[in-house]
Amino acid sequence: MKDKQNRIVILYDDIFLKHDMGVHPECADRLRHLIPAIRSSPVNEYIDWLKPVPAYEDEIALIHSREMIDYIRQTTGEGGGWLDPETYVSPESLPAALTAGGAGKVALGLVFELDYRFVFIPCRPPGHHATSSRSMGFCLFNNVALCARIALEYEFAKKIAIIDWDVHHGNGTEEIFYTSDQVLFMSVHQHPFFPGTGFVEDIGMDKGRGFTINRPLPAGAGNEEYIRIFKEKFAPALEEFRPDLFIISAGFDSHKHDPTANHYLDAQGFRSLAAIVKEMAEKSPADGRIIAFLEGGYHASMLSESVIEMLKVFVDM
Ligand SMILES: [Zn+2]
Repeated sequence: MKDKQNRIVILYDDIFLKHDMGVHPECADRLRHLIPAIRSSPVNEYIDWLKPVPAYEDEIALIHSREMIDYIRQTTGEGGGWLDPETYVSPESLPAALTAGGAGKVALGLVFELDYRFVFIPCRPPGHHATSSRSMGFCLFNNVALCARIALEYEFAKKIAIIDWDVHHGNGTEEIFYTSDQVLFMSVHQHPFFPGTGFVEDIGMDKGRGFTINRPLPAGAGNEEYIRIFKEKFAPALEEFRPDLFIISAGFDSHKHDPTANHYLDAQGFRSLAAIVKEMAEKSPADGRIIAFLEGGYHASMLSESVIEMLKVFVDM
C-alpha cells in the first residue's frame, strides 16, 4: 500500500450521469465508459474513490450571477430545455451541476488538509465555457473557476495556476479571472474555432494584465506543438508566478480521434502534458498539489485511454 503522497483521489458520483442532453456528444455514455475503464485498469490500485458534495447556491454565486442560477433552476424545474443553442438541461441537471461545482471544495480539503497531491474529478456537466453570467457550450457552472474562487475565499491558496488543455478556449474561466492577479490562466486551443475567443493578444486587464496566457493553434496541431508550448511558454510563466495550487481544465477533445475537433494529440501526448504539469507543481510552492476537472473528450474509448495515461503519471506508473 502506497502512502497518501503516492495515492490519488477520484471524486465521482452517479449524479453526473443524470444530466441528460439527449442525442449529443456530451452524454452520460462518456462516463459509463470511463469509470469502469479506470476501475479495471492497474492504476486503480492507487486510487481512493470518494464522493463529492454539492455546492451551495451561495457558493455558486461567488462566480455566477443570481439571474444565471435562477434561469437554470427555472428551466430544469419546468422539465428541461435549451439554455443556449449547444446547451440543454434536463430535470436532474441542476443537482449534477451543483455536485460538479461542489467537488472542487472537497478536493481542496483533500490536497490542503489530508496531504493528497492529486485529485481528479470526472464530472458532467463540464464547466470552462460558463462565464459569470451565462451557461454555454455544454457548460452550466464553471467548476474550475469555482474551485479557484473558493480556494482564494477560504484562504487555502493565494495564487492559483489554471492550465486548460481542452481543445476549446476556456473563455468562461478567462472572463471570470480577467482582472485578477491571483489566478494565472493559461490555455492552448484550436483557433479559429468555438467559442471564437482566446487570442494571443488577450492577456488580462487592469491588475490581471499579464495573468492570462493564450496560445491558439491552427487545425492539425498535435503532441509536439502542445508540448512545446507547455515547455517554452507555460513552464517559465509558472516558475515566475509561483502558484500554491494548480488546477487543470482537463479536456481530451484535442485527441486525434475526437469527433468534435481537429487537433491530433494521442494518449501519450496527454501523458507528457500531465508530466510537465506535475513537475512544475512539485517545483513550486504548490508542493505538487493539483486538482483536475474533466472538461471535453467525446470519443469514449480514446477518452478512457487518455485519462488513464494521465492518472498513471500521478501514481508514478
Ligand atoms: Zn472542449
